[in-house]
Amino acid sequence: MKKTIILHSMPKILSLFLFLVLGYTQAQTPEKLNASEIHQEIKKLNFLGSVLYVGAHPDDENTRLISYFANEEKARVAYLSLTRGDGGQNLIGPELREQLGLIRTQELLAARNIDGGEQFFTRANDFGYSKTPEETLQIWDKDKVLSDVVLTIRKFKPDVIINRFDHRSPGSTHGHHTSSAMLSLEAFELAAKPSAYPEQLNYTSVFQPKRVFFNTSYWFYGSREAFEEADKSAMLSLDVGVYFPELGLSNSEIAAISRSQHQSQGFGSTGTRGESREYLELIKGDMPQADVFEGINTSWSRIEGGEEIGEILGQVESEFNFRDPSQSLPQLIEAYKLIQELKNDHWREVKSQHIKEIIVACSGLFLEAVAASPSATGGEQVPLELEAINRSNFPISLNSVELSPNNSQIEVKKALDNNQSWTEELRLRLPESAENTSPYWLKDESTNGMYKVANPELIGLPETPVQTRARFRMDFNGTEIEIEKPIIHKFNDAVFGETYRPFMIIPEVSVSFEKDVEIFEKAEPRSISVVVTAGKDSLKGSLRLEAGRNWKILPEEASFKINQKGGTAIRTFEIIPPEDQDETFIKPIAKVGDKEYSDKLIQIDYEHIPLQNLVIPAKLKAVRIKIQKKGEYIGYIDGAGDAVPQSLEQIGYRVEHLEPAEISNESLEKFDAVVTGIRAYNVVEELKYRQKDLLEYVKNGGNLIVQYNTNRGLIVDNPAPFPLQISRDRVTDEKAPVNFVTKDHPVLNKPNKITERDFKNWVQERGLYFPDQWSEEFVPILSMNDEGEEPTQGSLLVAKYGDGYFIYTGLSFFRQFPEGIPGAYRLFANMVSIGKE
Ligand SMILES: [Zn+2]
Repeated sequence: MKKTIILHSMPKILSLFLFLVLGYTQAQTPEKLNASEIHQEIKKLNFLGSVLYVGAHPDDENTRLISYFANEEKARVAYLSLTRGDGGQNLIGPELREQLGLIRTQELLAARNIDGGEQFFTRANDFGYSKTPEETLQIWDKDKVLSDVVLTIRKFKPDVIINRFDHRSPGSTHGHHTSSAMLSLEAFELAAKPSAYPEQLNYTSVFQPKRVFFNTSYWFYGSREAFEEADKSAMLSLDVGVYFPELGLSNSEIAAISRSQHQSQGFGSTGTRGESREYLELIKGDMPQADVFEGINTSWSRIEGGEEIGEILGQVESEFNFRDPSQSLPQLIEAYKLIQELKNDHWREVKSQHIKEIIVACSGLFLEAVAASPSATGGEQVPLELEAINRSNFPISLNSVELSPNNSQIEVKKALDNNQSWTEELRLRLPESAENTSPYWLKDESTNGMYKVANPELIGLPETPVQTRARFRMDFNGTEIEIEKPIIHKFNDAVFGETYRPFMIIPEVSVSFEKDVEIFEKAEPRSISVVVTAGKDSLKGSLRLEAGRNWKILPEEASFKINQKGGTAIRTFEIIPPEDQDETFIKPIAKVGDKEYSDKLIQIDYEHIPLQNLVIPAKLKAVRIKIQKKGEYIGYIDGAGDAVPQSLEQIGYRVEHLEPAEISNESLEKFDAVVTGIRAYNVVEELKYRQKDLLEYVKNGGNLIVQYNTNRGLIVDNPAPFPLQISRDRVTDEKAPVNFVTKDHPVLNKPNKITERDFKNWVQERGLYFPDQWSEEFVPILSMNDEGEEPTQGSLLVAKYGDGYFIYTGLSFFRQFPEGIPGAYRLFANMVSIGKE
């Protein structure tokens, strides 16, 4: 049920128990509630109040508060993360940008699955660090993001909004953060106005939340002491350290398990027990004494026709039989019928879905539609097995099952006797037009600041609604209730046992390159391979490549034949680059019959999240760079993880990864340059003992290039041979003008003459953590600044030391290289070449 609940933004059933028992490998297993969990859900069913928590990124959310509202107050809670966190770094794999955003989306869903919240997003793209909300709201389309926040409020209808950040403190934190609070306050005012974004009212209605709080803490006051002394008269203080005997866990323990889902960010957390305070500062609305819902009716009598439902369900809650939850079924069915008659669309939908899940759980009803294969293509017939079993004495029968997306229906009319299983095998015919399983926000080309979503009804949803579904029409003693399940795939794994996978629709043919970027440092032809993968059996066709007119490709066409689904064919083409510097996107086109295919299929498979399918255009960026090099052998000390070594190999360097333990005076001698990976002096403990050898190497004529490190947690006092102080200075505007302060320095002239053109088309930022003080031995080369700030000269510093050179640079080569930015390569080649006349 997990998927459908999330997709229709309905209350989520806490699956904590399952997670704890089975561990994370079973992240995709449907939930089965025990009696204690069912009772918890009934309590939540009887609470009609909602909280929306607002932040900017995956990980901004306070899982202690979310879990507190969901599990202690029994409220509906959702986290609205304006972005999907695409701009960050990935600690568990190679995925970056939109693929990282996809992983983080699923990590947030996994976290909500634990803490009991729901999850929403806007179309804002996490473009990287931003110093001010002004810059953020310029790069995002402010009006669209605001519209999405308004839409979330109108759809979720929160009584209370809690901002993670302070709208009054621009400049003191990430611009995305302050923006999230500013937009939340604006949306609070607009959500109730029919004149604001009137097009939304075609599928939702206006709504006015009651209060907005800011979830403050000592962090925003600079110290614990300062916070202790702060005036707290406009603050509500909550003890969120409560213990839940039904779950055997404290709220902080649940919050830690939830937080630990952010594996790509390395946020494993350990739970605590005992009192724990959270502070909510009132920003809008009236000040409550003790509870955020004060003065808000959160019982069934809140809505017209709700009183009677409340009486019935109140009894269900107080008379619940933990040995036989099915004894509640007559009253639950009665309440279900009354809920269908409610005039309030919002609560009718929310509570219908929730009570259905409780009815299913109370009857021990197991319903499943299993596809025999993990994936299929449009037009394919998929063998399916349906299963239905009632584990109660309540009279339940299965009337029919309807399958999506083709809406075929099978009549069953079968009484389900206690613990007697019904199964049926059939075939689901997928329509030719069935859409590939892929995230909706990645279907169209995005901009730096925004994702494009063509269907307005998808905006805000965490993921694409599953197309392939089975609707079981059940009869509960005369009352028909439709229960919807996504079609899934499952198999037995010899190690893990029963293993669930989402069932996916994939393209008939997918095409891919081995790399995203190919750099031609010489005007010589190079062979490039294209992999064709069959999504179905016996596939025959032809493959060709398209590129810009300065580029030649041979042969013009290659044929392929693949016998089996999942099989591949590799075809090799000769790419002949132009003489002059140029770049192009090479697009593969596979033709089968009269259909053409140019998409690649990516599957992202981690144990803590469901398998993700991504179908996006395949393309290879080919870049012809005119570049000269002196020296060719580089030793690389890996830092926190970057693709710099592979990139340097692309332009013809020989790169050897250096194990820190093997660094010695002698082992370094052979290198033309030694380069440290990003944040190496923050993460490689061993460098403490190797710094002497590294500097000795420089002294003897070597060339050491140190890429950025953060000033906090440096492993050595100083990574340089002369005084150097790393600061937090950064230039986040990737287009910021660059001035050459030491024009005749070799690093700007030899062997490549660096010009303004070399700083064109940089991505994400110029650089970060530039030193702000250095001794006179260092020569600053460049000067740059973000708009409205003082120029900094710390981005590239070169010092002669003994017979060699020491270079410190915060320029973000690690971001430019994978994008094939020619200027970044040419400048880096000069850095490696320095001193080699
Ligand atoms: Zn953040």
